Amino acid sequence: MQGTVLYGPGDIRFEDVAEPRILKPTDAIIKLAATCICGSDLWPYRGLQPVDGPQHMGHEYCGTVVEVGRDVKTIKAGQFVIGSFATSDNTCPHCKHGFQSSCEQREFMSGAQASYARVPLADGTLVATTEVPADDLLPSLLAVSDVLGTGWYAANAARVQPGSTVAVVGDGAVGLMGVLAAKQMGAERIIAMSRHKARQELALEYGATDIVTERGDAGVARIKETTKTVGADAVLECVGTNESMHQAINAARPGGSIGFVGVPHGVELNGEFLFFSQKNLLGGPAPVRRFLPHLIDLVLTRKINPGKVFDQVLPIADVAEGYKAMDERRAIKTLLRV
Ligand SMILES: [Zn+2]
Repeated sequence: MQGTVLYGPGDIRFEDVAEPRILKPTDAIIKLAATCICGSDLWPYRGLQPVDGPQHMGHEYCGTVVEVGRDVKTIKAGQFVIGSFATSDNTCPHCKHGFQSSCEQREFMSGAQASYARVPLADGTLVATTEVPADDLLPSLLAVSDVLGTGWYAANAARVQPGSTVAVVGDGAVGLMGVLAAKQMGAERIIAMSRHKARQELALEYGATDIVTERGDAGVARIKETTKTVGADAVLECVGTNESMHQAINAARPGGSIGFVGVPHGVELNGEFLFFSQKNLLGGPAPVRRFLPHLIDLVLTRKINPGKVFDQVLPIADVAEGYKAMDERRAIKTLLRV
């Protein structure tokens, strides 16, 4: 089998790798229907996160189960399944509270930019559809696995409610999914912060009502101006830099909430700043498993079309070009055909 391996900054290869096999009795092996490149894959690709030795990439997936371990009870070979990038037993106290991404048995998926992948804790991690979905729904089902689940969590953590005024920091795929989520949750105003034409258009299509092109303090000033100096009820932080995190906190009104899902790189928050900000903060790796049944249903009934966020489709053998295109912001998100 061939798979995607990152050797170091800018060095991504599609090459022979060991075929995945059942390592624990709770594992499943799936044949990928499609896979994709995540914004978070760009951190090590850009050299902003250390790479200790060759790394088998890919954590977003949907496909057909081909084999299960002997302790797997509910998931069966032949089923079409979608899972999260964080595996979970779905039975421990954290899972029961809806924070499956902090499951006591959590592992982070890898190796999914390939034809086959191993999924640990199959029963708790995977959700099966009742029938094999139509081909044209595959991009949207794949999006549910991480990018939509993460955007959804950002809106959920930011406590978006019907009538809310929402600001979304970051116009990457997750930010755009955050716009979609806020719209579904009934937000009245959704301010997308973006300076890229194509991304602004997709944000508007997904439900944004306003576009703010300024960043940092100027971006915050624009949000204040457009909310009668109050600030937003809910802010979705979908970048992870020090500037974007401060921008998100400052754009919320006192008592407002920030859902932060951008993996932090160099974010430093001052205690006094937090104290006087007087805002709710919840973030972290999205507990996508909590939202999977609902999001899969929204896709299968064609109420949402998150798959539109994939503006580049490549055969998986060209995965290196996909990383390059996303790195250079020529593509929002790349789907890889397997
Ligand atoms: Zn658990």
